[in-house]
This record gives sequence, C-alpha cells and structure tokens, in this order.
Amino acid sequence: MTVGRENLLVTEWTDQPQQNAILLVEDSVALSTLLKGRLESETDARVTRCASLAEARIAIADTAFTLALTGLNLPDGPDGEIIDLLAEAGIPTIVFTATFDKSTRARCAEKKIVDYIVKDSGRTVDTVIHTVRRILANGAFKILIVDDARAARSGLKDILKHQNFQVVEAWSGRQALEILAADETIELVITDYHMADMDGYELTKRIRATHDSERIRIIGVSSSTDRLLSASFLKAGASDFIYRPFVQEELKCRIDNNIETLIQLKHLRRLAERDYLTGLANRRHFFARMRDLERQPFNGSIALLDIDHFKHVNDTYGHDAGDGVLKEISAVMARRCNQSKHIAARLGGEEFALYLHHLDAFQAHSFCEQLRREIEEAEIPVGGRSLSVTVSIGVVEMEDGEPFGNHLNAADQLLYLAKTSGRNRVFSNLTIPEAMQAPKSSASG
Ligand code: GH3
Ligand code: MG
Ligand code: MG
Repeated sequence: MTVGRENLLVTEWTDQPQQNAILLVEDSVALSTLLKGRLESETDARVTRCASLAEARIAIADTAFTLALTGLNLPDGPDGEIIDLLAEAGIPTIVFTATFDKSTRARCAEKKIVDYIVKDSGRTVDTVIHTVRRILANGAFKILIVDDARAARSGLKDILKHQNFQVVEAWSGRQALEILAADETIELVITDYHMADMDGYELTKRIRATHDSERIRIIGVSSSTDRLLSASFLKAGASDFIYRPFVQEELKCRIDNNIETLIQLKHLRRLAERDYLTGLANRRHFFARMRDLERQPFNGSIALLDIDHFKHVNDTYGHDAGDGVLKEISAVMARRCNQSKHIAARLGGEEFALYLHHLDAFQAHSFCEQLRREIEEAEIPVGGRSLSVTVSIGVVEMEDGEPFGNHLNAADQLLYLAKTSGRNRVFSNLTIPEAMQAPKSSASG
C-alpha cells in the first residue's frame, strides 16, 4: 500500500471542501480572458465565461454558482439588466463598470450586490481578484446577528448573506449566549444595543467572560444618538461599533476588517501550533491541550510512538529520505485522527504522541495496533524506490484527577518495554501478554 502524501492533511487546512464556481459575464474577450486566467490560478474556483445576457441565463440554469462577476452593460442588455437576472437567481454579485454614478450606486444597493469596482486604473484586475478571494473566504465564517427587532435582523442578514457569510440569528441576549455555547464555529457577533432582556453592552461583557477577541469578534450597533455608546461598547470588549442607519460601504469595510483580523490570527495560531515539517500539532501545543484537559473531567488514553531504527534510515538513505518518512507516518496518524477529537502531535525528532479521546485502555490498544500495522504495511516512496519502517508504541488509559505528566511517564515506560522486547509492537497495561506476541521485524529497504 502506498500512502498518498499530499492529500492527507488537506482536510485540516482547507476551510471549504467544495470547489467554488464563479460566473464571469463580460463581453470584452480581452478582459474576460485575463480575468478567467487570474481567477483560476489565484483562487480555487472554476470559472464559467459568458459574453451576453442570453448566455448567462443558460449558464445559471445549469450550475449553482458561488459568485458572479459582471460588467454592467452587455450587447443584449444595455441597461444593466444582468444585475436583475443575477439578483433573481440569488447569486452574490460583484459588478465592475467604467461609468459609475449615483443612480448606478442606488441600483446596486437596491439589488444588494456584494461590491462594485470602478474600472479606472491599472489596478482594476488586482482589485477584482482581491475582492473575489475575500468573498470566497467569507464562506468559511459564521456570523451571529443579535437583535430583538425582526426587520433589523433580516435586513442585516440579507447584506451578510450576499457577502457569502453563514448567518445565525438570535432575538435576545440570552438566546445569543445559548447559541454561542452550543456552536463553537461562530466567530463574529453583531449585536444591537437596546434589547429587552439584556442590552448589547451586557451581552458583550458576558461573551468576553468566556471568549477573548482572538476567538470571537464583536461589533456593536445602535440607532441611538448617544455618542458615548460606542465608547462603552468598546470598553466592554467589543471590537468595533457602527451607528444605524448603516452606510453599506462602511458596514462592509468594518466587517471585512474584523474578518481579516480573524484570518491573520488563525494563520499565526496555526504557525505557532503546528510542527513545520509534518503539519501535526507541535510539542508546545500538545502539552497546552493536555493541560486544558486536566482541568475538567475527561476520559481518554495517551500513546507515545517512536520510529524503530530511524537513525538507520537517515544513515542509509539520507536525511531528506528520513524527512519523507516522518511526513508519511504523520500523514497516516493525521488521517487516523481525522474527524475525531483525537490529537496527533510530533514531540520532536521521530517521537510522536497521540491523545485518544474517549478511548479506554482496550480501545486505545486496538487503535494503536491498527496504526502500527498500517505503518508497517506502508510503502514509502524514496528516490524512485520504496522503503518501509516500523514503530513501537506505549499506550495508557488516563485516569481522571491524575496529572498528565504521570500518564506520559507511564506511556514512556511502556514504549521502552516495547523497544526492548523487539520493537514493532504496542505495549499497554492491560494487554502486555498480547503485545508480547506481536510480529518482530525492523526497518528494511
Ligand atoms: P530506536 O529504534 O531505538 O528508536 O532507534 P532510532 O535509531 O530510531 O533512535 P535514535 O534516537 O538513536 O535516533 C533517532 C534519529 O532521528 C537520530 C536523528 O538524527 C534523527 N532525527 C531526529 N529528527 C530528525 C528530523 O527532523 N529529520 C530526520 N531526517 N531525522 C531526524
Ligand atoms: Mg526511534
Ligand atoms: Mg527516539
């Protein structure tokens, strides 16, 4: 069996699993060719080109588009009819145009287009690409709107939906807190000030008691004329404040800035938490997560895994081949932990740790045994040939109330026993006799 190196860690890194489809409506062949080329190389999207209203109509009937990009005037639609067509189809739309006046702006606002870009400089195409990337990225973010007035909620929801965001609504502060407690994927809260059960200021303080601004951004809104309101919101921990009625461009810019901050924070966090070579959790992150777990009732197991005779791999095939082996084995572990709350980490060198969520001693031993076998059977491509390696594993069930360090030591002792009894085996407290019968083999070319 050959383990595909590239595709295994992907699910963890990409925010949107489905490929995005963009509809590009533009009658200038030169511009549409340029845009299609850049969009397909700089985003993950597939682009469908149309040069007329009639072609666009056919394309819409055929494909569910994530986003449309269109000029205003077409040969068979000289009056911006395309905007109506796209609005009717409910496709978030970006308009680019040479002429832009108040009536066009009003029309774009009425049809709730995502954004408009005026073709007035050499940077137009860059701006289009930047905007498209932003809108596609928005699809990964969930926003909670908190407002006791239904009309206010639905107006804002429309705007956000057109920006490709996922939207959740709450009609009271209490409900907002319940939703946030149940859904960890919400990263931005937009809250009204005046609400019956709890004002937005109080809600902000309560959210901040459990979530810092790196995890959840909060934007306060109000139609009040009290200029001090924004100050008190910000002091309570809000990230931003906007007065109603919204100037749409201002609202969008402020939301974009907060989303941009979240994206950058995520990127930094990812860099700080991941092992650079394998993409697994690094030692510091793993220990931090284990300390978090210690503070609450939990059950699970912990395993330490060490590659057998890894020095031999480096000495025989070179350091790069050794790195390749580390990546392959990490990929197997990542895939085994995918879609679960298990954590796979590289503690250093060729030593790895696994936290196995909710697995008791028996289940954890069996999990590790399957992992050991999968690694033993993997053929790892190295410089035109393939090699295999084996691993030794020590695994213990964690007892509630016992410090994490003690479990780690116990797993380390079991790993040591696995090594000294011949390697390529799993040792655990419960099943040492079974593990004694595990097959014997060592790194081979
Ligand atoms: P054992 O079966 O007892 O575990 O033997 P071993 O050879 O695997 O263990 P040892 O600790 O003697 O050697 C580990 C080797 O791992 C030595 C070191 O050069 C190598 N190593 C550590 N980090 C890396 C790395 O990032 N890349 C590569 N290619 N090798 C590494
Ligand atoms: Mg080793
Ligand atoms: Mg070692």
